Amino acid sequence: MPHSNSPISRDPRYTWDLASIFPDVASWRRECEEVLAESIRLSALNGTLGASGEHLYKALRELDSLDERLERVGVYASLLHSQDSRNDEANKMTQQVDALSSEVSSALAFVDPELLALGRNRISVMLEQYAPLSLYRYYLEEVERGRPHVLSLEQEALLSALSPLASISETIRDAAHDGDMKFRPIKVGGDVVEPTHGTIESLLQHPYRAMREEAYRSYTDSYQERVRTFGATLSSQVTTALVLSRARKFSSAFDEALFGDNFSAAVYHAAMRSCREHQPLFHRYFRAKAKILGIEKLAEHDIFATLSPNAPEIPYDKGVDLVLASLAPLGEAYVSIARQGLTTERWADVFPAPGKYSNAFSSGAFGTRPFLLLNYAPSMTEVGTLAHELGHSMHSLFTHRSQPSRYSSYAMTVAETASNLNQVLLRAHVLATADRDTSLAVLDEAFYFAHRYLFMMPTLSRVEHTMHSIYARGGAMGESDICKATVTAFAAAYGESVSFEPERLGVKWAKFCHFYQPYYFFQYAVGISAAMSIGRRILDGEPGIRDRYLEFLAAGDSKPPVDLFKIVGIHITARDVYRDAFKVVEGYVELLERL
Ligand SMILES: [Zn+2]
Repeated sequence: MPHSNSPISRDPRYTWDLASIFPDVASWRRECEEVLAESIRLSALNGTLGASGEHLYKALRELDSLDERLERVGVYASLLHSQDSRNDEANKMTQQVDALSSEVSSALAFVDPELLALGRNRISVMLEQYAPLSLYRYYLEEVERGRPHVLSLEQEALLSALSPLASISETIRDAAHDGDMKFRPIKVGGDVVEPTHGTIESLLQHPYRAMREEAYRSYTDSYQERVRTFGATLSSQVTTALVLSRARKFSSAFDEALFGDNFSAAVYHAAMRSCREHQPLFHRYFRAKAKILGIEKLAEHDIFATLSPNAPEIPYDKGVDLVLASLAPLGEAYVSIARQGLTTERWADVFPAPGKYSNAFSSGAFGTRPFLLLNYAPSMTEVGTLAHELGHSMHSLFTHRSQPSRYSSYAMTVAETASNLNQVLLRAHVLATADRDTSLAVLDEAFYFAHRYLFMMPTLSRVEHTMHSIYARGGAMGESDICKATVTAFAAAYGESVSFEPERLGVKWAKFCHFYQPYYFFQYAVGISAAMSIGRRILDGEPGIRDRYLEFLAAGDSKPPVDLFKIVGIHITARDVYRDAFKVVEGYVELLERL
């Protein structure tokens, strides 16, 4: 694996070309000043938006263009920061962007209230007056949709002053979790290893069972020691979410969470019910995995064990070739843009480096090229990560080419469709010619996602939903109640296929920061299922599906997610999409059973 001082990590071909955004920091600073000046100039639009359809259209265009410039200065600073968090100048730049953003948003805070004050009738008249304004019809409808939850000026000011309180539980939880947790060193064979949040995943994947078991014990011991703190922070979080949602005239945090993406409760329940109905598929997976690992029955500490200790190494350039070849079913236009991006346009910062952000992401602003951050190691999993992040990048690129910037940030369910679809195509491409070790490596990558997002997270969401429902009815849950709910949910999900110790299984929830963003868990299941369904239909050669998928990418968030999914023939409140998705998972299970 290339390390920090390896020559390859400094090879410019494997780093970003940030000069494609700003030639240097001095021009970035000048742009920040101009953005601020422009926001002050545009604040003079206050009180004029209703003048005419044409005036409103031009005003929204100008506001969009300012927003694009603000996004570019923000992305430039945050990319510099993610390349090296020890870079003081980059740290200061991100803080300057925070300050600039809040100045700009307070200068322009009048826009939505003024549109609401104009009222539905006046807006309709203006839409008729000036045809180009229909570009913003969906945005104007969205503002109107929010009307029942907008409060008086005084109440809004109070809520906004209180808003820092909303994240206190999470801040304390993160400090206790990320900062303070220590794990008992484990000794296996001649090795002493101290697990950390950063290494636990690879320890739980370790081929040596005793290592996994010891790591799991050390890890769960620490969670048990702190369970009271995490119980308190989570209860406070659920209470805060409920109070704030009611302040905004929602009946519960559940209603508020779904409102943002205009989802009905049926979207949530379809995903949850479908995942529960397909749990027996995972029981087959757990049994097949036990057989491959040579053990009688999987225990909780075996769930993440690697299937492929002899996986072939895949150097980055070969990974790029594999991904590009696998995307051929999306057509030459898609592939050639991606190829140019990953080669001449230097979209990716590829290898680990000191101070570099440790995960992977795809970033970029309207009008810039995409920027992918990877920490590439030569494994199938990392090739999958490249395919995933590239999917996000291509989605943005297609959207930016077809939509105004206002429609360029999409719902998480929609975003995860574009990224996971590329992984579905990659797996199919590699499996078509793979030997046993490579097949196992592909299945490791596939089940990392399928188990995590279609089994574990929906089960955690059950715990989350239980909690929010009890609080909404005026009840409360202490840490032992949360642990009990977790054991109940996972015992039902595992059936007879996995053995566990209830006290250790019970603290599983405490590891997940997702609980602090209500109803986030289930959204992965929606996006990934859509990706599997579309991927399967593209690979089956369904007529027209490829073009409809590209149209879906180009639509950004110019429609509600439910309507965006209809472009590709998916009704996310129905079960078909999940039936399709689990057929893909079944294919992986059948292959594993044969290997
Ligand atoms: Zn993603």
